[in-house]
Parts: sequence; structure tokens; C-alpha cells
Amino acid sequence: MMSKFEEYFKEVGQWNERWKKFLEAEEISKSESVWDNLDRFTDIVENLSSTVDEKALVNLQLEVETLHNEMENYFSSRQQVGSIWINEPAVPLGQHKLPPLAYPYESLEPFISSEIMKLHHQKHHQTYVDGLNQAEENLKKARENGDYSLLNHWTKELAFHGSGHYLHTVFWENMSPKGGGKPEGKLINMIDSYFGSFEVFKKHFTEAGSQLRGAGWALLVWSPRSRHLEILQSESHMIYTQWDTTPLLVLDVWEHAYYPQYKNNRRAYAENWWQVVNWRDVEKRLERASEIKWPPY
Ligand code: MN
Repeated sequence: MMSKFEEYFKEVGQWNERWKKFLEAEEISKSESVWDNLDRFTDIVENLSSTVDEKALVNLQLEVETLHNEMENYFSSRQQVGSIWINEPAVPLGQHKLPPLAYPYESLEPFISSEIMKLHHQKHHQTYVDGLNQAEENLKKARENGDYSLLNHWTKELAFHGSGHYLHTVFWENMSPKGGGKPEGKLINMIDSYFGSFEVFKKHFTEAGSQLRGAGWALLVWSPRSRHLEILQSESHMIYTQWDTTPLLVLDVWEHAYYPQYKNNRRAYAENWWQVVNWRDVEKRLERASEIKWPPY
């Protein structure tokens, strides 16, 4: 007779196989992280010895539970479009998370110390994630209560922590222990044609970072409008801007936009403005902008 351990192993082994078949049937790309999770689990099951103890069994059960939750999250984040399923996860309001680093803290040494990386990622970036979630939650409360007395404060927080979170997420991904060297393909062609050469681009970007007044960022950006690259500086993270977002609907509240007609009644101008909004245009912008998809954090 089989021991209860052996029975359980056999069961989870089969369960694992069923998931793999299911993913294959759904044509889930091998690059999706669910495959990694399943493979990791297969390794664990295959490396169990037959003389396993209670403790190993408990660990295995925990792994099964984790994997189960991951699978559930993965599939609940997919949406059905027509007859096909697409994987289109989004970040629910107030639920931004600190993205894991794809490399160990010490792996960028000697250029960036382990100490900096750890503090920067675990403490600083986490603060932006928490601040962004808090701002989103408080603005939700304002909408629910119709109380906008702290609107300017929370909108500033939304920009500060939002830009902090999004830019750091890009920053971590912009680096690698195997980094350095030169870009290739379309990127190097665009750098050469706009900045003159890779060396000139590097000099310009380094100066942008070095000469920035106070704290902030140097950024290489793509302008979908002019269709060329540009180098910008950002003091602090923003000044009311949430980097890594795309404008869809904008209202000019400079005086020149309303004063000759509305005088100091900017609110009346803002309220009347809705009569002339072209929603077809906003819809089109959303369609185009939502084609760009980054991993959700
Ligand atoms: Mn930072």
C-alpha cells in the first residue's frame, strides 16, 4: 500500500501536469511567468525523496497553495475579447506594488554599491508605492464624499509618488549586471540621426544629469508627436506631472484661455467647456495610447 506521502506526491504531480496541459491548450506563451512557476514546482516534486518527512510535506503543501494562488491571479487577470482570451492585467486603485529586481543588490558593484541598491529599492521606492496608493485612495474618498477641499494636496501627492514609483520601476529595468556597451538596431539609428553620434548623446545625457539643479532625473524620451528622441531633465519627480502617463484630455486654464470672456470666473469656464469636448478624439487617443503595455506594478 502507498504511504500517504506517496499518494499526495502522485496527486500534486498529476495536478501539475494538468495545469501544463491546460496552459498548452490555451496557447499561453512559454515566456509567461506562469510557466516558470510550474517548472519550479516540477523541480521540487522531482527532487523529493521517498523518505520524506512531515516537514517536507508541509513545505510542499505551502508551495502548492502558492502556486494555486498564482494560477488563480493569472487567470482572473485575463479578459475575454470576442472568442479569445487576452492577458491584460491592470493595477487596481490603491494596489501598486514594489516590483522585484531582476538581479541581486550586489550585482551592480562596483558601480553602484549593494548598500545603495538595497536602501534605494526597499526603502525609497517602497515609500513612493505607499504614497501613490494613499493618494489614489484619498482621491477616491473625495469623489465618494464630494469633498474636494484637499484636492490640490492629494493631486500633488499623486504626481510626486506616482512619478517616483513609475520612474524607479523604469530605472531598475534600465540597468543590468550585464549592462554597458552600445545600443543596437532602431535605437542606435535614432540616436545617431538625432544627436549626431552615440558619444555625443552620452555626453549630453551625462551633462543633463550632472547639471540638474537639486534632486531629479535625466530622461531619454520618445515623442510620439515629433517621432524623435529627446533628452529632458525633471526637477524633483514631477511638478504636478506623473511621468510614464499619456495625456488624453487636457484643459487650458491659463488666463489667456478664458479671461477676456469669463474674467476671474475660471470655474464657469471649466464647467461650460464640457459643451465643446470632442469625445471621439479622446476615445481615439485612448485606443492608441493603450496599445503600449508595460508590466503592471
Ligand atoms: Mn531614487
